[in-house]
Amino acid sequence: MIIFHEAGAIRKWLAAQQTAGRSVGFVPTMGALHPGHLSLITLSRQAASLTVCSIFVNPTQFNDPADFEKYPVTTANDIRMLESAGCDVLFLPATTEIYPNGTAPDRHYDLGYLETVFEGTHRPGHFQGVCQVVHRLLDIVQPAQLFLGQKDYQQCMVLTRLVEMLSLPTMVVIGPTLRETSGLAMSSRNQRLDIHQLEQATIIYKTLLKTRDLIHQQSVAALEERAASALLQHGFQSVDYFSLANAKTLEPFPPAYVCTPADNVVALVAAFIGGVRLIDNMVMN
Ligand code: AMP
Repeated sequence: MIIFHEAGAIRKWLAAQQTAGRSVGFVPTMGALHPGHLSLITLSRQAASLTVCSIFVNPTQFNDPADFEKYPVTTANDIRMLESAGCDVLFLPATTEIYPNGTAPDRHYDLGYLETVFEGTHRPGHFQGVCQVVHRLLDIVQPAQLFLGQKDYQQCMVLTRLVEMLSLPTMVVIGPTLRETSGLAMSSRNQRLDIHQLEQATIIYKTLLKTRDLIHQQSVAALEERAASALLQHGFQSVDYFSLANAKTLEPFPPAYVCTPADNVVALVAAFIGGVRLIDNMVMN
């Protein structure tokens, strides 16, 4: 695996590869890698001639500075994992390579309704920061395909919109959420939980499954209330949201509405356990 630290150097190297007809698949990450990240590397290797992964803990997408400070950094292990997964290129830039003119945003991304719900409201500025860094990374890597995890459902929608807005010749490919055998969605943030909290956190997946079982039997409000109280009863300190929404637009359903098989529904959840904010989702159909 070739490791680049400088934006100019990787762009020049990739340009030569792209001119020689090699397609590039790109997997952006913030490191602290786990098998969920590696599943995207595998998808990319199946689709593209060269797979590029980036590791950059992007300061502009953290609305909470303490969360940024505590974000796990495990670079030596990440490099070993990427090598064993067959990744071709790692881009490991310093902040000055990504933001040579400083981190202040130089444009506003019009994300419309998408930025007014769920992660958009609970993490103000988060998606602007995500667009800022991914726009810069896409300029540098210029991939044919961008691989994202469904684990970050709303982020997939935001970045699909970004690629459309910028008219980039990049296809967005979404990989399924990888889970522990307990059902807990793999996440870099899980490293901050102790063994008891890891066990308690499995209630998220159990609740998503239960919600899916009952989706055509109970009202949206009843399902949401049931789910939030299950989380609170199993060690979660607070629930930012457990909501059912239109899977294509993220628009809500009326509280008294009972979903039908014709509805495209996604359940989205964000909740705190042990001071760590976990997110997950499940498409209900
Ligand atoms: P992150 O390092 O958390 O920014 O994630 C980098 C990429 O990996 C994003 O596209 C995530 O959606 C994806 N990802 C994170 N966790 C998982 C998971 N458990 N399964 C599949 N993809 C994931």
